[in-house]
Amino acid sequence: MKQRDKLKPCPFCGRSRNLSIEDAGGIDRYVNGEPDGSILMWHVYCGYCGATGPEVLLSCENAVTAWNRRDGERHDD
Ligand SMILES: [Zn+2]
Repeated sequence: MKQRDKLKPCPFCGRSRNLSIEDAGGIDRYVNGEPDGSILMWHVYCGYCGATGPEVLLSCENAVTAWNRRDGERHDD
């Protein structure tokens, strides 16, 4: 399993100690009448200022990547 990337500080308040990855909700998908939990939205949430990162389907790791991506910054590992 891929190691989760570290989170950068919040771009709005600059803090990094109260960040969490949350289920952003919004999508409750049903397949053939049965709840299908396979589609979830995730985003990174800043507990200090309430900022949220881009909502991303399916993967906590993708939410981390989206949060960490900043304008004018190359994203490479
Ligand atoms: Zn913040």
